Amino acid sequence: MRVSFLGLGAIGQPMAARLAGPFELTVWNRTAERADEFARSHRAHVAGSPREAATGAQAVITCLPTSADVEALLDGPDGILAGLEAGALLIDCTSGDPATSRRIAARVQQAGGAFADAPVSGGTNGAASGTLTVMIGSDDVTFSRAREVVRPFAGRVEHMGPVGTGHAMKAVNNALLAVNIAATAEGLATLVKAGVPAAKAVEVLNASSGRSFVSEHLIPERVLTGAWPRTFRLALLDKDTGIALSLADELGVEVPVMAVTGDVLAVARRALEPEADYLEAIKVIESQAGVEIRG
Ligand code: NDP
Repeated sequence: MRVSFLGLGAIGQPMAARLAGPFELTVWNRTAERADEFARSHRAHVAGSPREAATGAQAVITCLPTSADVEALLDGPDGILAGLEAGALLIDCTSGDPATSRRIAARVQQAGGAFADAPVSGGTNGAASGTLTVMIGSDDVTFSRAREVVRPFAGRVEHMGPVGTGHAMKAVNNALLAVNIAATAEGLATLVKAGVPAAKAVEVLNASSGRSFVSEHLIPERVLTGAWPRTFRLALLDKDTGIALSLADELGVEVPVMAVTGDVLAVARRALEPEADYLEAIKVIESQAGVEIRG
């Protein structure tokens, strides 16, 4: 199968790498050097434009920061739709927003193709090891086809419902991740200030009912160690939380906890540099408390 991948960012690059063996892969990236570098170390062709990437491909995968970025690549003489083959799939792995995806799906359908929103969870490590969870929003037939394309980087592929529901699922998941990060860091900062060593606090939390993925994995591996790897930009987590807040608002669901977390992320973004990792929001909580959560 001929598959094209657009967007070789922090997670796109390891996802595309998993496709290079099973499929005949073409890659495109806005900054062309990144695509050239990818093709030097993987079996892949490099396309000069989104149109060229779509031409001849049975499936085109996008993985960009936002749905608006994907929508902006559709049109024009070099756009995806100018090259999209009849019956081809556009699979959008961006953590995007449902409303824009429904618009994109209509445009793709008009052009003779089919669309699935297919955001992923599991981080850059999960992408590299092919264990991502993929949350698909599409009709049934498109889901069956998309599942085969994403399989090389997926440990689990779920059909959430019609177009937009994959993005809804992902946005709420990430809003809950943000809630857990903020709440756990606030709790640990309080315990450290009360005289409990951070490593002991995390250990006991993880043997108790307040634990979470954040306390069991992210804090021990990245915060207690002081490693702070940059794998997922804070700006992207803030974007996802914003999508969840808009969706809840649209649907008339009151979400005060998520809303406060959105404020915490906004404060952290103002305090940190644009490329800051999502977990670095914890540094802002530490700084306000005047303590560090380290082993
Ligand atoms: P990065 O910021 O690392 O990379 C973004 C990619 O999109 C780059 O290839 C960049 O190209 C390209 N890009 C940015 N803006 C545009 C544009 N306007 N037009 C065309 N290309 C553009 O992001 P990630 O790879 O981390 O994230 C991609 C998506 O995956 C996001 O929606 C994110 O929320 C989601 N995600 C990320 C995870 C992670 O762990 N990193 C986990 C799960 C989901 P260039 O090289 O030119 O800058």
